[in-house]
Amino acid sequence: MLIDGKQVDSMAGKAATITNPATGEAVAEVSMGERADAILALEAAARAFPGWSKADPRERGDLLRRGAETVRDGIEEIARLLTMEQGKPLRFARREVESSAEALDYYAGEGERISGEVVPVSRGSRSLIIRQPLGVAAIISPWNYPADLLAWKLAPALAAGCTVVAKPSSHTPLAATRFVMALAEAGLPSGVLNLIHGSGREVGRELVESPIPRKVSFTGETDTGKWIMERAARTLKRLSLELGGSSPAIVCEDAEIDEAAAACVQRAFSNMGQICISVNRIYVHNSIAEEFTTELVRRTEQLRIGDGLDPEVDLGPIFSEAQREKTEAHIADAQKKGARILFGGRRPEGEKFRRGFFFLPTVLDRMDHSMRMMREETFGPVAPMMSFDTDEEALKLANDSRYGLAAYVFTADMTRAFWFAERLEAGSVGINTTNVIVPKAPFGGWKESGIGRERSRAALREYMEEKHIRIGLRGD
Ligand code: NAD
Repeated sequence: MLIDGKQVDSMAGKAATITNPATGEAVAEVSMGERADAILALEAAARAFPGWSKADPRERGDLLRRGAETVRDGIEEIARLLTMEQGKPLRFARREVESSAEALDYYAGEGERISGEVVPVSRGSRSLIIRQPLGVAAIISPWNYPADLLAWKLAPALAAGCTVVAKPSSHTPLAATRFVMALAEAGLPSGVLNLIHGSGREVGRELVESPIPRKVSFTGETDTGKWIMERAARTLKRLSLELGGSSPAIVCEDAEIDEAAAACVQRAFSNMGQICISVNRIYVHNSIAEEFTTELVRRTEQLRIGDGLDPEVDLGPIFSEAQREKTEAHIADAQKKGARILFGGRRPEGEKFRRGFFFLPTVLDRMDHSMRMMREETFGPVAPMMSFDTDEEALKLANDSRYGLAAYVFTADMTRAFWFAERLEAGSVGINTTNVIVPKAPFGGWKESGIGRERSRAALREYMEEKHIRIGLRGD
C-alpha cells in the first residue's frame, strides 16, 4: 500500500493470496489493510490537499505526463500482472495499461484548461464563477478493468487539484499497485495519492463513511452503489457512481449483417463478457434472423480459449468460480424457459482447462424477457438473441430494463439510426459500432446504471465545486 508517500504493509499484518484464474496458482501475497490503515491514508490525503490544490495546474500536468511515461516504461510488467490476476489475454492487458497512461496524458492537458466565467449580472456588480477542487476524493474500483477504471478516476481527480485515496478491488490489486507506484515514482508529493488494499465491507466502508473525503467515485455493482449512496448521504458527499448494465444491440433489417455480427461477437465475449457495456441482449429483425445467427455462431466458433499469457488466445478464463456459476445458472434458467443453445453452454473439455474457470462463449436464441439473462447482469460470455418485427417493438424491448448504460443499433438508414438513438434510454449509443468509450466523450449511466460522468472534460467537473463571487462596482 502507499500511504503518505511510503510503501507500507497493513498495521495488523494481514495479507491475502492473489491467484491466477487460468491456473489456480498463487501469483502474489498482498497486504490487506483495515479501518485503521484507511484512516491513516485519509489523513495523509487531507494534509496534502492545501499544497496540491494550490499548485500551478501546469506543475500538476507535468507530473501526470511524467507518470504516463513511467507507466509506459513498465507496460510489459504491469500487463503481465494484469493477465495473471484477472485473466484477460496479454494483448488486451497491454491495451488496458496503455489506456491508463492515456488517461494521465489527457487530464494533464485538460487540467491546464480549467477556467471560470465572468457574468455581468446587473449594473453595479459583476459575478465571477470559479471552479475549485473539492477536497479529498475516495476512489473505489472493481476487478474487471483494474488499471483502466482506476486511472480514469484518479487522473481527473489529481488534475483538478484533489488529493486521493484509492482502493482497487481486493481481488485484483497487482496492476493497480504498479500503476500507482509508477505515478509516485514520477514525483507526486507525499500524501497526494494514497493506495490502500482491503475489503469493501471494512476499508471501502470507511472511505464512504469518514467525514474526510468530500467525494466518492465508485465503479462496481448497482447494489453496492445503492449502499454507498445511502451511507454517503450521512455526510452528503458528492458521488460518481458507474454501475451495472444490460446493454441491448438492435440489428435492423437493413444492417450490414457481417459487420453487425462481428461487432456483437466482440462486445459480447471480450473479457469474457465481464464488461459493464457488454452486449447483453441482441434483438434481431425477423427477416434477417437466420442469416445473422449463422454468422454470429460462425464467428463465435473461431474464438480461441486458453491461458491469457498464450499469445494465440482470444478469450481467457472467467474471473472467478462464482462468476462462472452465475453464468451457468442464467443459462439453465433460460433453457428451462424455452431458450435454445446454438453454441457453447458448457465448460470446455481437456487437460489445459482443468484448473482454470474456463467457459465456452455461448450463443442462445428464442429468448424472452421472463429470463434472468435478459433482466439481470450475467457478467459472463453469453450472446442471447430474440427476434422482432417492428422498430417500435425493438425500442420497447431495448428500454425494458432497469439499467441504461449503453445501447447499440445496426442500420444503414441514418433517419432510423437517429430515431432509435434519441429514444434509447442509455448514456451512450453506438450506431454501427459497439465501441462507445472514447477519451473525449462523456461516459456514464442512466437509470440504475449510475450517476455522473467519466472521461472527457465532464469528469474534471466531477472533482470540482463551483463558487460564485459577486463584486460590487461603485459608479458603474
Ligand atoms: P463490487 O460492487 O462488488 O466491488 C467494487 C468495489 O467496491 C471493490 O473495490 C469492492 O471492494 C468495493 N466495495 C464492495 N462493497 C463495498 C462497500 N460496502 N463499501 C465500499 N466499497 C465496497 O463490484 P465488482 O464485482 O468488483 O465489479 C463488477 C461490477 O462493476 C459489475 O456490476 C459491472 O457492471 C460494474 N462495472 C461498471 C462499470 C461502469 O463504468 N458503469 C465499469 C466496470 C464495471
